[in-house]
Amino acid sequence: MRVLVVEDENKISDFIKAGLTEDGFMVTVAPTGALAVSESNSHSFDAYILDLMLPDADGIELCRQFRDDGITAPILILTAKGDLADKVKGFSAGADDYLTKPFEYEELLVRLRALIRKTQGYPRSTIVIADLTIEPNAKTVHRSGTQIDLSKKEYQLLEYLARHHDRLVTREMISKGVWECDTNTYTNIIDVFINYLRKKVDAASDTKLIHTIRGKGFLLSEVAPSPKA
Ligand code: CA
Repeated sequence: MRVLVVEDENKISDFIKAGLTEDGFMVTVAPTGALAVSESNSHSFDAYILDLMLPDADGIELCRQFRDDGITAPILILTAKGDLADKVKGFSAGADDYLTKPFEYEELLVRLRALIRKTQGYPRSTIVIADLTIEPNAKTVHRSGTQIDLSKKEYQLLEYLARHHDRLVTREMISKGVWECDTNTYTNIIDVFINYLRKKVDAASDTKLIHTIRGKGFLLSEVAPSPKA
């Protein structure tokens, strides 16, 4: 489980990091809003712990931005601002929980675990298609035992195709399911990402898994579709 801790007070972030690391989490600390956004763009986190008063950003705005960016992971606001008005602002910006400083580590831990459980449900099973293995919990991908490094979006697209394996996946389905967007604005981007995936997942292998169904969409399958399909 990866957690992004957005907190500018070293004492607090060190304390949270030490505790959560001991409890099996992988913790990244971002002391500014700018670093938080860049971490969030380049990695996939299972939960966010967010301070409201940051040197370069307002945590409420940051929370709203994460949601606008399509981040669905739980966000727990951890702040000294404990007024009802602040809490209401936090929740309406898309936060899932709110904890006021000073806080007990144990309470942070149980709240964090409950939030993650609520969004992720129970551990999900491994997806295996031919020699491709996807671990949805760890978000790792292997082909013939070799780990493949994917960006967040590449991973989401591959997992989506894999969950629909051996079935036609249209661009509309991908727009909705991966880009969380109802329009076809993303069609070109989808083709770009399919090409990235082909290079990373298929290029080194004799068995191609990602197939284009001309005019219809894509298919992830061990069996190549017949040209007429
Ligand atoms: Ca602060």
